[in-house]
Amino acid sequence: MPIQVLPEELVAKIAAGEVVERPASVVKELIENSLDVGARDIRIEVRGGGQRLIRVADDGSGIPADQVATAFARHATSKIQSADDLFAIRTLGFRGEALPSIAAVARVTVITRASGEDNGSLYKVQAGRTLAHQPHGAPRGTVVTVEDLFQNVPARLKFLKTSSTEAAHIAGLVSAYALAYPRVRFTLVNDGRLFFQSTGSGSRFDVLVKVFGVETARAMLEVDPGVSGETSISEADAPDAGITVSGYVSPPSVHRSSRKLQYLFVNGRWIEDRGLGHAVVEAYHTMLMVGRFPLFVLDVHVPPDSVDVNVHPSKSQVRFRDPGQVFRAVQRAVRRALTNAAPLPSLSVPPPTHAGQPFDLRSTPAAVRSAMSLIPPARARPAAEPEIPPAAPPLATALPMLRVVGQIAATYIIAEGPDGLYLVDQHAAHERVLYEQFMAAHAAQSPAQELLEPQTVNLGPQQWAVYEENRSLFEHLGFRLEPFGGQTLMLRAIPSVLKSREPGAAFVQVLDELVNGEQPLEQDREARLVTSICKNAAVKGGQALSLEEMRVLVRDLERTTSPRTCPHGRPTMVQLNLAQLEREFGRRG
Ligand code: ADP
Ligand code: MG
Repeated sequence: MPIQVLPEELVAKIAAGEVVERPASVVKELIENSLDVGARDIRIEVRGGGQRLIRVADDGSGIPADQVATAFARHATSKIQSADDLFAIRTLGFRGEALPSIAAVARVTVITRASGEDNGSLYKVQAGRTLAHQPHGAPRGTVVTVEDLFQNVPARLKFLKTSSTEAAHIAGLVSAYALAYPRVRFTLVNDGRLFFQSTGSGSRFDVLVKVFGVETARAMLEVDPGVSGETSISEADAPDAGITVSGYVSPPSVHRSSRKLQYLFVNGRWIEDRGLGHAVVEAYHTMLMVGRFPLFVLDVHVPPDSVDVNVHPSKSQVRFRDPGQVFRAVQRAVRRALTNAAPLPSLSVPPPTHAGQPFDLRSTPAAVRSAMSLIPPARARPAAEPEIPPAAPPLATALPMLRVVGQIAATYIIAEGPDGLYLVDQHAAHERVLYEQFMAAHAAQSPAQELLEPQTVNLGPQQWAVYEENRSLFEHLGFRLEPFGGQTLMLRAIPSVLKSREPGAAFVQVLDELVNGEQPLEQDREARLVTSICKNAAVKGGQALSLEEMRVLVRDLERTTSPRTCPHGRPTMVQLNLAQLEREFGRRG
C-alpha cells in the first residue's frame, strides 16, 4: 500500500478511539466539562447501558451561543492558551478533544444557555457533521445528549459488554466523582430508575455512606490532612511541599479481594496510579492478609506545577515531578490514620490544659475513656509545664512481656510491662488471637475440628436461605454440615477456633449475624464470616477469668502480629507509661 494521508473522518474516528473507549468514557468527559464550569448539580441519564443514550445536564455557566459550534472543533478549548498553561492546569479538561471525539462516534445534541445571555441555543452534530444550529429556550447551564454511540464504529460495538455491565461502569464512575466532589449533587438515572444520588451537602462521609453502605462507611478511618503536627517532630513529619492528603481508608479488618473500591484523586482528578495505590497498601504493613486489598478514597492535592496531567488521552494518569515525595506523603497520611485509630492510647491522651480538669478525654476513643475513668483523677498540674513530646506509636510492633496483675470489671486485664501499666480489653484481645489462629489454621488447611458427637441444628426459613446461599463458604471455613431432612442440618465439624463453644449455638449465632447484618458483597462474605466466627468464639466482657486464663490470653496476644488492634481495628489495650504516672502523681516536673 502506498503511503497516503487518511481522510479527515477516519482520522477523527481514530482520535476518538483514544478518548472514548466505552460509554463510561463519554460520561466521564461530560461530567468533567460540567465540573469545570462550576456546576453544583449534575444529572446523568443513561439508557441501554449508555449506548442508546447518555444525557448530562448541569447548572454551570453554559456555552455562549456564538461559541457552541467552536466547542466541537478539534483541539478547541477555553481552558488553556499556551504551552506554559499546561503546567498550571486547574481544570479537568484542557485538550479540547472530548466533544469532537464524542461527536465523531455518536449523535450529539447540546442545549445550552450561558450566564448573562437571554437566549439559549441548540446544536446538533453527528459523525462530525452539523445537523442543526438554532436559538432554543433553556435554563442557564448545559444539557448534552449523546445517542447511538459507536453506531458508525461496528468494531468498537463488539467490544462493549452487556448494557448492565456498562451501566455498572458508569455507576462506578459517578460514585467516584461524587466522592471527589461532595459539594456537587450527582444524580444518576439508569433506564428510568434512580441509580445513585449524592446530596451535594459538602460532606464526603455522606457520599461514602451512599457508595460503600453505612456499615462499611462507619468503619472507615478518616485521613486528616491537618494532623501531621500532632505526632513527633521528625523527618517523617517534615512539611510536604504543599502536598495534602485527605479522605478515608479502611481499618485493617475491612478489605476486599479486588481493588475496585479504591479511589484516588489528584487535584480533583480521578486517576489510576499503581505507585500511589501501592503506597497506600504498604502503609498497612503486615496488617492485611495476602491477596486482600484495603478500601480507600484519597484526595491528594499537589501544587499544579509539580504534576504533569498531559500524559494520557483520557487523562486518567498523571506524572509527578517527584513521585517519591508524593508516595511518602500518601503513605504517611494513611499510616497516621491507621495508628490514630489503634494507638497506644497513653500516647494520645492530651496533656491537662485547665487546672482541676486533669484529662481532656473528649477526643480520645471510647475504649480509652472508659479505661481511663477507672483511674482516680490525679492531681492537676500547671498548664505551662514542659511537655514530653509523645512518640508516634509503632504500627504493628510486638508487645513486651507483660505480667498479669488482675482484672477489673470482669472486662479488662491489668498487666504490668517494662514501661508501665497496661489495660487489656479481654474480648478484643481474644478476638485478635483467634483471628490470627484461624487464619493460620486456614492457611494450613486444617480449619475444621471434628465433633465427637454430631449435632442436629434446626434452622428457620431465613437462616436456611442464608445458609444455602453461603453453603460452600461455610464448608470452606471449617463447618461440615449435612442435610438431615427439611430445614435441619447435621453438624459434624466446626472451625477449630470455635471448639470451646457449644457448637450448634455457635453456628446459629454466626448464621444470625449474616441474616441480620447488611448483606455484604460477594467478596466480603468470607472476611465477614471469619470476623464473626472469632467474635463469637472470643471471651466476652463481663466474664470473670482466672489468673491462669488471663496469662494464657496475654501470652497468646504477645504472639500475634498485630497485638494492638482487634480484627475490627479497635484497640485491644491502653497504656499508662511510668512517666505519665509520675507526672500525674506530681513526682515529676
Ligand atoms: P476541554 O474540556 O478539554 O476544553 P471539550 O471538548 O471537552 O474540551 O470541551 C470544549 C469546550 O466546550 C470547553 O473548553 C468549554 O469551553 C466548552 N464546554 C464543554 N462542555 C461544557 C459545559 N457543560 N458547560 C460549559 N461549557 C462547556
Ligand atoms: Mg472536556
